[in-house]
Amino acid sequence: MIRPFCCFALLLTAPASAEPLHWYKGNTHTHTLWSDGNDFPDMVTDWYVTHGYNFLGLSDHNILQAKEVWMAETSVEKRRKTLGKTTMEKYRTRFGSPWVEEREMDDSKEVRLKKLEEYRKLFEKPGQFLLVQAEEISAKFDKSPIHIGAVNVAEVITPLTGDSISDVIRANLRAVMDQEQRLGQPMITHVNHPNFRWGLSAEDMAQVAEEKFFEVYNGHPSIHHLGDENRVGDEAIWDIANTLRLTKFKTPPLMGVATDDSHHYHGEEGSPGRGWIMVHADKLEANALIGALKAGDFYASSGVTLDEVEFRDGKLHLRIHAEPGVTYTTKVVGTPKDFDASTTEVTMPEDDTHKTRLRYSADVGKTFASVEGPEVSYQVTGKELYIRAVITSSKPHPNPSYPDQTEMGWTQPVAWEIH
Ligand SMILES: [Zn+2]
Ligand SMILES: [Zn+2]
Repeated sequence: MIRPFCCFALLLTAPASAEPLHWYKGNTHTHTLWSDGNDFPDMVTDWYVTHGYNFLGLSDHNILQAKEVWMAETSVEKRRKTLGKTTMEKYRTRFGSPWVEEREMDDSKEVRLKKLEEYRKLFEKPGQFLLVQAEEISAKFDKSPIHIGAVNVAEVITPLTGDSISDVIRANLRAVMDQEQRLGQPMITHVNHPNFRWGLSAEDMAQVAEEKFFEVYNGHPSIHHLGDENRVGDEAIWDIANTLRLTKFKTPPLMGVATDDSHHYHGEEGSPGRGWIMVHADKLEANALIGALKAGDFYASSGVTLDEVEFRDGKLHLRIHAEPGVTYTTKVVGTPKDFDASTTEVTMPEDDTHKTRLRYSADVGKTFASVEGPEVSYQVTGKELYIRAVITSSKPHPNPSYPDQTEMGWTQPVAWEIH
């Protein structure tokens, strides 16, 4: 029998000599000029530092920020979709000479993109801010994009192919796991934005045992976070995948991260500050953060802050950091053990990479309880396959990625076991 990572209970019973735990705020999915983002990595990092983040993984597509790259300044400016101060002007104003390195070529002026190892020393401060090397492994199968965040990687992962969507997910996750073992450096992976181009179904993700995390919220406005009339949104994908994992595939449930996936930094759509994770760790160091993430000791947020998350003796307890004038509704969601497992096969429109998808009964991801206010307690009855909590606040998201978005928070699945 595998039991859930009962992180929170363990924390409470930790010996008195243990280091106190802190909540660290971070984002593990962001783009820069190193791939298809439109600002310099040091400028993007500066945004996160000045907006209260503790750690950041700049995750460009299939590249690490580790080599000599010069870029034409005209190409830099073309990425910007707004008028006003140019990207170069802003870069020079913030960092000035000699940090900004430029050179005249025959027909253009070029600027050098700083490597992670160069700019991290400008920003890192013990206990306050940490940069973690990351990559968005951007693979595909047929027309399905298969994007995987690889966090704390040491060497670039070249996307691998395979014979099915699940095969490709598995191959790329294994490549990171192999590197992790070979180098003895802890890493995590998260499967990104399943509904991007309607690429991944809950079943595609459910059957990959190597998978541990996925994006329950991604701030990019084009990733179909809420689904549409034919396809379910990211939260329902989570519940379907976890129900299948616990019953059919006999593997632990996925944990959910929230990320920005920001590409634009000049006031356009796709800007940063939309989704993040809060990790409960003893130190602001990559190994400690990765360890806490693997133990499930974190929650995902698009604005809601929790002062406490605890699962002990079958009781889930949350304390929300309530803001004045804001109301909070927490739903305790899960699937009953005796759920109605019937499905209906539905034909998909042409924009879908799947000809058909399965529709599940209302038992999958049902609401066991709905609680108003900042204190939430739920005692499991023993009839739940798993439970998780999702908090929705009445406060509009200051930088929404979909209409009428309010701030939310998502805790990890607990109260599950595999027989
Ligand atoms: Zn992506
Ligand atoms: Zn991305």
